[in-house]
Amino acid sequence: MSKYKGKKILVVGFGRSGVAVARYMTKQGARVTVTDMKQKSELSDSVAACADLKVEYELGRHSSKSFLTSDLIVVSPGVALNIKPLEEARAAGIPMTNEIELAACALKEPLVAITGTNGKTTTTAMIGEMFRADGKKVYVGGNIGTPLLDYITAGGGADVVVAELSSFQLELTQRLIPAVAVFTNLEPDHLDRYPDMETYTKAKKRLLVACDKNSFVVLNRDCANISKFAAENPGKLIWFTKNDPMKSSSEFAEKFTGIYYKRQARQLVARITGREEVYDLSQFRLYGDHNRENLMSAICAARAMGVSHKAVQSVINSFKGVAHRLEFIRKKDGVYFFNDSKATNVMSVQRSLSSFSNPIILLAGGRDKGMDYAPLAPLIREKVKILILIGEAKEKINRAVGDYTETYLVGTFEEAILLAYQKSRNGDIILLSPGCASYDMFRNYEERGDYFKKFVNQL
Ligand code: ADP
Repeated sequence: MSKYKGKKILVVGFGRSGVAVARYMTKQGARVTVTDMKQKSELSDSVAACADLKVEYELGRHSSKSFLTSDLIVVSPGVALNIKPLEEARAAGIPMTNEIELAACALKEPLVAITGTNGKTTTTAMIGEMFRADGKKVYVGGNIGTPLLDYITAGGGADVVVAELSSFQLELTQRLIPAVAVFTNLEPDHLDRYPDMETYTKAKKRLLVACDKNSFVVLNRDCANISKFAAENPGKLIWFTKNDPMKSSSEFAEKFTGIYYKRQARQLVARITGREEVYDLSQFRLYGDHNRENLMSAICAARAMGVSHKAVQSVINSFKGVAHRLEFIRKKDGVYFFNDSKATNVMSVQRSLSSFSNPIILLAGGRDKGMDYAPLAPLIREKVKILILIGEAKEKINRAVGDYTETYLVGTFEEAILLAYQKSRNGDIILLSPGCASYDMFRNYEERGDYFKKFVNQL
């Protein structure tokens, strides 16, 4: 019998994760209440998804009573842990958990977990494809859009589970033990929710702490914030780096287990399984150095888990990328349009700008997440011919970098696209890479990217 049978479970936050928890817990025979500060009308997708479940609702408000009378509170990743009713419940000793932890406790299959500031989704998707190409049954979930707990509720059955985990999803995890943990990179982000970089780093580091001696730990050698995790690594370390390790210190070179980029030959050289192997990149079609980094980390995870060299190479040759990540839309009148709506922090905009050598007309702005935009200045000066700013953050971005190129502040998204098109010349790149969240104008980054693509395709 389930340990949740008859228990009073409060689900806080009613997005995809909250829906997955409500479904799982009702199946376990628990008495489920869902609460969210949003009104029912704003949560229609979630309400519809739970239409067949017996669930109590407390929408548009949180009542302390519901929190204090629960046997267990399950907090969604979108909800900050320091809101008042959660603080009160914590003080009263009410246990708290999250969807990822519930899934981890029930999971029997090996788990490949991916976290970091940027590149998680791309890397997760690549790893999933590599397992598939090797003939394995794989479930790909977590922050990528399909809740991990749905896999458990549906009865499991895969050979391996690949999960993208955000810092918010890692906040309450305790019993998760990954077979492989991949750390893509770590740069300032979500500083609207975390008081400082240290607290954000601590949340990400929970995945490292979760590893045991049998876990493979894949680290980015070129990211200082990540490479220092090596000192605390409890598992088997695998590096990825864009630099030849033989040119590093002799101690590092001798012990090197991992993969690196051989620029001249357009090859990746790996030493993961004991012997050296080479991957050819001549057919790899994603733009930018960062996508090569994502590929390298994906190969480390896949090869550590025994995916064949052949399967990995076939994915290198065929992987088309994930929508809204530096996605090519069309070429019109000699102008190239790219949708990078998922670039919601400064680092990802930097990486996108670095990916091109043609002049760029950059569309940026949206809802600010407490970012410092000044680090964009050198790339804006070097690469951005025209900067067009939109959304709530436009004044802030303009003050930080508006003096480094020809800059316009416009009222609507449509105006921004039309102005970019008017100002463009043969060979230019029009790039939507906002560096901000989308919530001031759109429901999410997907809606923003889809709208951009639709408008561009109608030009
Ligand atoms: P995440 O899931 O971590 O948000 P995505 O793969 O969805 O990562 O990519 C998000 C944004 O970050 C995209 O705009 C993309 O261009 C950029 N990006 C992708 N990989 C990296 C990387 N390794 N380093 C920096 N930026 C990246």
